[in-house]
Amino acid sequence: MTTTEDRLKYLRSHVRDVVDFPKAGILFKYITPLLGDARALTTVIDLFAERFTGAGVDTIVGIESRGFLFAAPLAVRLGAGFVPARKPGKLPSKTDSVSYALEYGTDSLELHSDAIRPGARVLVVDDVIATGGTAWAAAELVRRQGGEVLGAAFLLELTFLSGRERIAPVESFSLLTY
Ligand code: AMP
Repeated sequence: MTTTEDRLKYLRSHVRDVVDFPKAGILFKYITPLLGDARALTTVIDLFAERFTGAGVDTIVGIESRGFLFAAPLAVRLGAGFVPARKPGKLPSKTDSVSYALEYGTDSLELHSDAIRPGARVLVVDDVIATGGTAWAAAELVRRQGGEVLGAAFLLELTFLSGRERIAPVESFSLLTY
């Protein structure tokens, strides 16, 4: 039986660092090698499912775009629905929008206005939590629509940017920390 520690080590070996992408000074965590490896991809979903099976998740909100890659398969595993949280202007119907601060400037995230059933138990999923602004916006949209945010799950957490604190009291669950 492979231990959780071995499985996390395997995942870590499939994340690549790209310096100065998308701009100077950013160390980009590149997960395409992990996605391309069948064992690694399955392991991510297995580990998330082990954590959230039995938690009563009704809906998984995946954050555009790499969050979708884990949110949809996890939703299938948990028997939950999948809802995309998208960048402005991408959703075709009436939307709710929340803006959040970036290091320089602001950005916003949108959900269809009828995306979350009031009282739904929701898990937010993304690939990376950095400053936490994006995940906070997703959680805020869910709350505004009357959903209950059970937690937020990430493949990777950049701890030095304190995203975990930014989204508290929503609890963060990260597989790999840097
Ligand atoms: P933040 O709102 O600062 O937590 O940023 C999170 C979003 O930006 C996620 O959707 C990530 O995909 C992306 N992101 C931020 N920093 C990085 C990084 N160093 N490497 C890869 N993706 C990142």
